[in-house]
Amino acid sequence: MQYDHILIRYGEMALKGKNIKQFILRLQENIQQKIKEFPDAKVKRTQGRMFVLLNGHDPQPILEKLKKIFGIQSMSLAIKVENEVEAIKDAALYALNNGGNIHKFKVSVKRINKDFPVHSQEMNQILGGHLLINTKDITVDVHHPDLEIKVEIRLEATYITSSVIPGLGGLPVGTSGKTLLLLSGGIDSPVAGYLAMKRGVQIEAIHFHSPPFTSARAKQKVLDLAQQLTKYGKSIKVHIVPFTKLQQEIFREMPDGYAMTIMRRMMMRISEKVCKNESILSMTTGENLGQVASQTMDSMNTINEVTNYPIIRPLVTMDKSEIIEISKAIETYETSILPYEDCCTIFVPKSPKTKPKRDRTNAFEAKKDFSALIEEAVNGIETIKITERTEMESKFDDLL
Ligand code: ATP
Ligand code: MG
Repeated sequence: MQYDHILIRYGEMALKGKNIKQFILRLQENIQQKIKEFPDAKVKRTQGRMFVLLNGHDPQPILEKLKKIFGIQSMSLAIKVENEVEAIKDAALYALNNGGNIHKFKVSVKRINKDFPVHSQEMNQILGGHLLINTKDITVDVHHPDLEIKVEIRLEATYITSSVIPGLGGLPVGTSGKTLLLLSGGIDSPVAGYLAMKRGVQIEAIHFHSPPFTSARAKQKVLDLAQQLTKYGKSIKVHIVPFTKLQQEIFREMPDGYAMTIMRRMMMRISEKVCKNESILSMTTGENLGQVASQTMDSMNTINEVTNYPIIRPLVTMDKSEIIEISKAIETYETSILPYEDCCTIFVPKSPKTKPKRDRTNAFEAKKDFSALIEEAVNGIETIKITERTEMESKFDDLL
């Protein structure tokens, strides 16, 4: 005997009223896509339930994939057996024996199939007794069990499930449109991308690259971060913007204290153009209030003036420690802290204004026509599609 199903629960989605159908279909599609390297595993839906049918595959690597899919509230391994008392007894014992280090258990029988001859209360006793006889040092505790074995007797079969494994929650990626993530090589922006995805948003990324001041390794770092994010969603298009000329021009022509702000405004202008070309309706950044000079309220206000596209800032109110915690959990941290130069750290003005004003910024920008350089940057964009590496490919990479 072995676990042959994974039961999928999708909590929050149940609240979504008439969109529910679309959400469930998307979740099913996303799961099927993520487990496609296990050719026989199939995602099925029956009567408000979602299952992965393992068809002989080891559940563990599949569970690892499921733990990274937004929209799943929790999961349980399950065994499907015939509606027969003996078969149900065997399966319940298997679940107990494979439940880890357990001292106290509980059996909960739900009899949906009223034709099944044994009532749920009696079934609880039969199963409890069977488990006690066949194990050592284990007792029943209905209030604080280490493991609850759930038995659902349905029309077509009986399902026995054991421990509940938490999922990521959130909404299935692809149910809330698309955003353009401004992805630097730092700690914050990958976390911002992850949190946008958690709300069902699909991402494309844009990165401003300034060769030769920023190296090929700095660019590769950004691609590696995007690669890591694909584990939580779909393939990610990364738009690499050649930013050198524009950036040099800004730092040559604009007053030192305003160069940083104007550079950020240029990033926003270019990002908005990419959004238009790609039919994307919003941008996402890793901005956070009060961390650095470019992230004060004044600065945000002045940078934001150049676009009326919504800017999603999932980190805006978080503490750095919370952001770092997430970045470690999603495994972007180790890449983010690699010391490669970033276009924003290369051209650091000596004394950036912490309170840049809109009117002054506009006055400075009016002295110089940047439109040709913006056009040139947009036309020079290199777009790279990053797809998730399979288990095999990752193992192979580790060997190298
Ligand atoms: P991060 O850790 O994401 O680099 P940060 O704390 O270093 O953020 P800033 O350097 O002020 O903050 O950047 C704020 C945001 O601007 C970043 O989170 C990112 O969304 C965007 N950004 C900065 N530099 C770039 C870049 N070279 N390419 C794309 N986006 C960028
Ligand atoms: Mg940064």
